[in-house]
Amino acid sequence: MSSVATRPLPVSPVRPKRFRSEGARLRTLEQKLNGVWEGLRADGAAECPLCGGAMELRAGAGSCSRCGSTLT
Ligand SMILES: [Zn+2]
Repeated sequence: MSSVATRPLPVSPVRPKRFRSEGARLRTLEQKLNGVWEGLRADGAAECPLCGGAMELRAGAGSCSRCGSTLT
């Protein structure tokens, strides 16, 4: 018996040679976190920026039910 599995294309290992500056990266992260906080404040729920799981507002902090990361 042979099984042929269609594998998803591997994530391209090609990266731009020039790294983004630390400042730009932090700003992007900040924007992401701001979006998460907006969701948490508005709905009490948001998508975890790390794993995409469900985040809930618990005791004033965002808590991911999947990866366990917290946002304060
Ligand atoms: Zn998570």
